[in-house]
Amino acid sequence: MNDTVKKPAGRGRNFDLPEHLKAYKGVWVFIEHDRGHVHPVSWELLGAARRLADTLGATVSGVLMGGPDEALDDFARDAWAFGADRCHVVRDPALKGYRNEPFTRALTELVHRHQPEIVLLGATTMGRDLAGSVATTLQTGLTADCTELNIDPATRALAATRPTFGGSLYCTIMTLAYRPQMATVRPRVMSLPRRDATRTGTLVEDAVHLVEAEIVTKLLDFIPDASRDTVNLTYADIIVAGGKGLKNPDNFALVRDLARVLGAEVGASRPVVHAGWVEAERQVGQSGKTVRPKLYIAAGISGAVQHRVGMEGADLIVAINTDPNAPIFDFAHIGVVGNAMQILPALTREFRAHIDNRTQKAA
Ligand SMILES: Cc1cc2nc3c(=O)[nH]c(=O)nc-3n(C[C@H](O)[C@H](O)[C@H](O)COP(=O)(O)OP(=O)(O)OC[C@H]3O[C@@H](n4cnc5c(N)ncnc54)[C@H](O)[C@@H]3O)c2cc1C
Repeated sequence: MNDTVKKPAGRGRNFDLPEHLKAYKGVWVFIEHDRGHVHPVSWELLGAARRLADTLGATVSGVLMGGPDEALDDFARDAWAFGADRCHVVRDPALKGYRNEPFTRALTELVHRHQPEIVLLGATTMGRDLAGSVATTLQTGLTADCTELNIDPATRALAATRPTFGGSLYCTIMTLAYRPQMATVRPRVMSLPRRDATRTGTLVEDAVHLVEAEIVTKLLDFIPDASRDTVNLTYADIIVAGGKGLKNPDNFALVRDLARVLGAEVGASRPVVHAGWVEAERQVGQSGKTVRPKLYIAAGISGAVQHRVGMEGADLIVAINTDPNAPIFDFAHIGVVGNAMQILPALTREFRAHIDNRTQKAA
């Protein structure tokens, strides 16, 4: 995999930031929450923001927006524990439940008021929607779905790296002439920082002028998606994934069997999803989910770069493939050259026997 194509040459390196933009300082993270829960990607982003801010000698701020009765103070305490120095809090009835218009207005107004240098959001449904409209309103640059964030030493600009050309190359994008510099990052791309409950920070109450009558979209009701909590691939500790090498949906059942015994989630490569063997939310990779489990078992998956980018952060990758030259063996920690249709049932049998043994001993 090519993970270079990073450093800009020539003009970018000699670029002088316009004088009026030099006042922009600090790294912001939009803290996304919904129905009383902060999305973990916000804490992952705080870890990244801390690194960037330390390089710049700047502060990290979380931005919390919600209704007056929401637990924003609790979320601010969590944000400090995960690395924020301060939290900007906007409490307004119009911000209860996400709607693009009031959130865009509020975040845009805060940016004008406090002038942060960098603003990071999760590449979630909400984050993608908000980041695009805020960047457009502010007329600044936004790099979406980044896999790496750094500070370019020459320009002190945010160097935001993301896949390009169908995932076969990485490019690094810098916003040199505009501020703030904005980026979104998918859940699990960055690791979760260590929580330090002794850390505290500053709470900044920010009022924003929002008039409900001027907001076109109305939130009438919340209807949860029935399958919303059934697939938790992104944050699973163990994933057993299958690819096209399994040949047919009957053989794919061997992946489900092993996953059941291990208490794991089922993952899949894109062709398997396209063939309709599993639901789309189980796809791992560039156009699927990014995962970071403790154990990832890949059976009959070649290890194409578009799959690799979604799972290479796993602590332990076990690959089963008949082809000893399959690309997945270049980055798997344990490689088994063999037929998945024989190895998967053997693993299921052994793990089941091991678990039964332990249960009997404990009884
Ligand atoms: C823009 C773009 C986005 C994409 N996004 C994604 C994505 O998000 N996720 C994704 O997965 N792909 C994605 N792809 C597709 C990707 O390029 C590959 O085509 C895909 O990952 C291949 O899936 P596979 O490994 O299951 O199938 P194959 O490439 O067909 O590989 C099957 C493997 O199984 C092995 N095999 C065969 N028989 C057996 C057996 N009996 N036992 C064990 N092993 C066996 C073979 O040796 C082979 O290595 C994307 C492509 C593009 C262009």
